[in-house]
Amino acid sequence: MICPVCGGRQIGKVGVEQFYCWDCCVEFNSHANKTVVVYDLEEDGTLIPWEDFYLESQEIMQAAAE
Ligand SMILES: [Zn+2]
Repeated sequence: MICPVCGGRQIGKVGVEQFYCWDCCVEFNSHANKTVVVYDLEEDGTLIPWEDFYLESQEIMQAAAE
């Protein structure tokens, strides 16, 4: 698993199919065969989805394999 935003590998798992990037401080989910959604994490714990950032998980998996 790599971060879909920065491509970094400083990824922590925070839930089922939910991950956190320590480099850019965003959360994202990864559902097999579905789009990846990236969220900003507010100080109060609210997740704000990046409405314009949707990627095919297939691309993420390919990137992770390289
Ligand atoms: Zn990142």
